[in-house]
Amino acid sequence: MFHKMGSKAPDIVRQLKFVIDRVNAAARSRPPHLQGKEPRLVAVSKTKPSSMIVEAYTSGQRHFGENYVQELVEKSTDPQILQNCADLRWHFIGNLQKNKVNKITGVPNLFMVETVDSEKLALALNNSWGKLSRGEPLRIMVQVNTSGEENKGGVKPSEAPALALFVRDKCPHLQLAGLMTIGSYESSTTATVNPDFQCLVQCRKEVAEALGVAELDLELSMGMSHDFEHAIETGSTNVRVGSTIFGARQYPPKPDSAASGAASEPNPSSASTSASTAGPGGDSAKQCSSTDKVEVAETELHSLSLNSS
Ligand SMILES: *Cc1c(COP(=O)(O)O)cnc(C)c1O
Repeated sequence: MFHKMGSKAPDIVRQLKFVIDRVNAAARSRPPHLQGKEPRLVAVSKTKPSSMIVEAYTSGQRHFGENYVQELVEKSTDPQILQNCADLRWHFIGNLQKNKVNKITGVPNLFMVETVDSEKLALALNNSWGKLSRGEPLRIMVQVNTSGEENKGGVKPSEAPALALFVRDKCPHLQLAGLMTIGSYESSTTATVNPDFQCLVQCRKEVAEALGVAELDLELSMGMSHDFEHAIETGSTNVRVGSTIFGARQYPPKPDSAASGAASEPNPSSASTSASTAGPGGDSAKQCSSTDKVEVAETELHSLSLNSS
């Protein structure tokens, strides 16, 4: 279903190594209070064929991320993956509708759901996972909308402690691993210190206080292809990197736009939109930052790819 377009196949092994080296270098340059666990690299393989996943897995990569339910179901049950990647760990990083939770919990080798943004979704996952009677709880992260953009999923920063408490108290089959955010593209490119990342760090502090746990016991999932080093230096323990490893994403052109060649990517974050909670202005969600942010076309976020020369 994923067409190969005209572009040259990326050298995945080389690009993966390049990213891992940069992850490790960024981890070494973290301030002392953020040193500790090595950050985890999640290779985001959305839209890419299973063969690329097998290639990355074979060279040592274990954590992979997908953000469309159906695509994750297909890849995780692909015989090619099942036979070659026994120890692969899937992260779900997209918008999850309550009526699709059984599909997600049924994914072989599901490691974590990073995008829990409501009590209802947490309960649905909890119940679904509980019925499967796997030995250990399902790891989840609370997704926080740090940029206040309407097209981004997640709870408001001020709502994160309550949702974390709900998971702890009402969802025995879930384990809260930490907090996740996407952040705005603008914040990640213009500010010296990304305010959205700082927001998530602050949010973790409040959640840790509410739960009575140490801050560093909660993970932070933040940072993508264009900003993962900065994210690690700010405290990220889980970076989600796609196009820098697998090459720019391309989608098969729609029949009516075949002449245009490269089709643009569907907006992954609109898939994360929580239509029920986003207010018209988006400003209400901005608890960590007072500056207004310019909305940037989501396609720009994904147009960055590694120059393979
Ligand atoms: C696609 C995606 C990524 C990876 O994006 P790149 O810019 O290709 O690294 C990370 N996180 C989420 C939630 C995504 O949807």
